[in-house]
Amino acid sequence: MKNTTAYIILIFIMTFFLGMGCTKETQEQAPDESPKQYEGILIAPDSVFRHIESQVSFGPRNPGSKGHAETMNFLLNYFSNTADTAFLQRFSSTVYGKTYDMANIIASFSPEKSDRILLCAHWDTRPFADQDKNEVKRTHPILGANDGASGVAVLMEIAHILSKQKPEIGIDIILFDGEDLGVSGDNDGFFQGSRYLAVHYPLPKPRYGILLDLVGDKQAEFRYEPISREAHSVLLDGIWNIAKKRRSPYFIHETGNAVSDDHVMLNQQGIKTINIIDVNLVGNTDPNPRRQYWHTSQDTIENISSHTLADIGNVLLDFIFTTSQDIF
Ligand SMILES: [Zn+2]
Repeated sequence: MKNTTAYIILIFIMTFFLGMGCTKETQEQAPDESPKQYEGILIAPDSVFRHIESQVSFGPRNPGSKGHAETMNFLLNYFSNTADTAFLQRFSSTVYGKTYDMANIIASFSPEKSDRILLCAHWDTRPFADQDKNEVKRTHPILGANDGASGVAVLMEIAHILSKQKPEIGIDIILFDGEDLGVSGDNDGFFQGSRYLAVHYPLPKPRYGILLDLVGDKQAEFRYEPISREAHSVLLDGIWNIAKKRRSPYFIHETGNAVSDDHVMLNQQGIKTINIIDVNLVGNTDPNPRRQYWHTSQDTIENISSHTLADIGNVLLDFIFTTSQDIF
């Protein structure tokens, strides 16, 4: 009885001091718990939209075409003027009996830093509009205002801003070639650039990667993509949380369809990569007829919104400058 009383008093005293400790700790930690604010340069919607216009002005950009060769020079020149280093990773692949000379376009910011992250998209466009309603057009190459140009446009504008302000972490921007050469249903024909890059990674390996694909539609919807969730759920949630904080109307906090894309090639080689993609465009399953333009001649600039491009770009900039260094 006596022992019990002493025990209760001891617990009471311990609880009191522990409680005090907790209170103190909570007070000291409180400022760090509030979300960090990004106060850097934001993306100008007009500037990012111009990057769509300039790519589309070269016409279709499928490997082997005139537009492909011209766009490669244009992008290399652009990134040489914005990044600390920029170069081509040339390779060739034989797809369905035809050999293509291709190049991944690589731009590095703070290349001396060993802690790095990867931002990527594909810059080539599809050589045939095989989903077009008009049978004649199914053999024609597409313009790829969204499928190709949108991810590149956002990364071009991010590069412009990174040339003026540097985050803690090193950034590599990689634009893949030969993403869209495959015949529907045959994955081996697709993802030539990311397949090559993942095996022949030309830089120090990044902590993780973020892929952008189909990110420019006026009514874009970015849902959690299941392969990305499996690859790196902390990264996925980190980005969607920033979108929520910024009240982005495009990031939807629910799970969407899984999709084969360049991120699969990177994940297979141990580079944990998530995909931000308007996945309902793929397969033209969206109920909105205007949004049924994937792999058709209708993938044109009329579907693109500068607001969408700027919004996703600002979510990424906010992530890069406030959160990227805390995720491994
Ligand atoms: Zn495509």
